[in-house]
Amino acid sequence: MATLNLRSTLDELCQRYGPSGYEEEVADYCRPLLEAACDKVWRDAVGNLIGFIKGRSKDPRDSVRIFAHMDEIALMIKRIEEDGLIRLDPLGGIYPNLLGGGPVEILGRHQHQAGVLGSGSVHVSDKSSAAYEIQYSMGNKAMDWSHTHVFTGLSREELYRKGIRAGTRVVIPRHRRAFTDLGDYWAGYFFDNRAAIATLLVLVHQFKEEKQQPFTDLYVVLTSEEEVGAHGAKFAARQLPATLTLGLDVGPAEKEYSIDFTACPIIVYRDEEALYDRKVADYFLDVAARIPMHAQTASLSSYRSDVSHAKSSGRSPFSGLICIPTRNTHSYEIIHRDAIPNTVRLLSEFLLEDTHSLLQQFCPTPAPTADRSK
Ligand SMILES: [Zn+2]
Repeated sequence: MATLNLRSTLDELCQRYGPSGYEEEVADYCRPLLEAACDKVWRDAVGNLIGFIKGRSKDPRDSVRIFAHMDEIALMIKRIEEDGLIRLDPLGGIYPNLLGGGPVEILGRHQHQAGVLGSGSVHVSDKSSAAYEIQYSMGNKAMDWSHTHVFTGLSREELYRKGIRAGTRVVIPRHRRAFTDLGDYWAGYFFDNRAAIATLLVLVHQFKEEKQQPFTDLYVVLTSEEEVGAHGAKFAARQLPATLTLGLDVGPAEKEYSIDFTACPIIVYRDEEALYDRKVADYFLDVAARIPMHAQTASLSSYRSDVSHAKSSGRSPFSGLICIPTRNTHSYEIIHRDAIPNTVRLLSEFLLEDTHSLLQQFCPTPAPTADRSK
């Protein structure tokens, strides 16, 4: 089996459209790559793509699931005006000031359609609403999606005929998704969370090539709808048997969290939604020290993951989160080119080690049932 080329795999992943609830393109790309390296691959009822690899341990409680989301931040049509201008709502944490104006692609039910996102002309007086307001009268308010529209050159009726109406998804078109190489860094749209998916694809291919078998049973779960509430992860956490749930995502390389913008993976102890298990995070730090590899730690605010959502809804008691240090999250993102290889190494070491004694701590004896014999 040919080695997966990391750069081209990530590039291909970022080219795929994957607004929340519309992850088919990403799943279709990943499926054969998982099938080449996993014992079993399937898609569940909510659209998660799952790869299973049997572990060396004979104890079925030695099992781990790793979540990385397939979806990307995008837009949804709120309404189409009589003159054909399209009004939008965000689908996930997407902001007009970070995206900027420019070409978009409308994923019509019958036909895709190019459009241009904008706010009108800047050369206007207070007789024009949105553009004037953005420039001169916003005070300390941020611009929002109500100041924007998409122009297609088509009438409302022509758009309807293409299956474009309220509820249709709008994404950044492929030609805007090109990678930028910046020496030691890569930049592009949707490293959140295609960088994590690339990490997992490289990881399972490496296991296959090197004939390595993880210690635990391993479920690689490429999830749906993370950006709008982690619904795929919540479902998978309820359906799949696993003692420990790990998440893999991008993390903000910001001084606020003392996270350096380097290639060193981030081990997260908490985010806004939930605490990650202290013993799991500590264990990952020890694994990094044994490699040896420098790992960073973080307590994040204004951040949620598949795993913290699953934990806070009672579906995933034992959990951890590893992040890839990223600048400009939810915009044109930048990572260090060695960040993914380092994350592969950290996860690989963890998954190959005998983690039975760690996982046993997460298998408490069941609650007693009432004794009805007396
Ligand atoms: Zn993410």
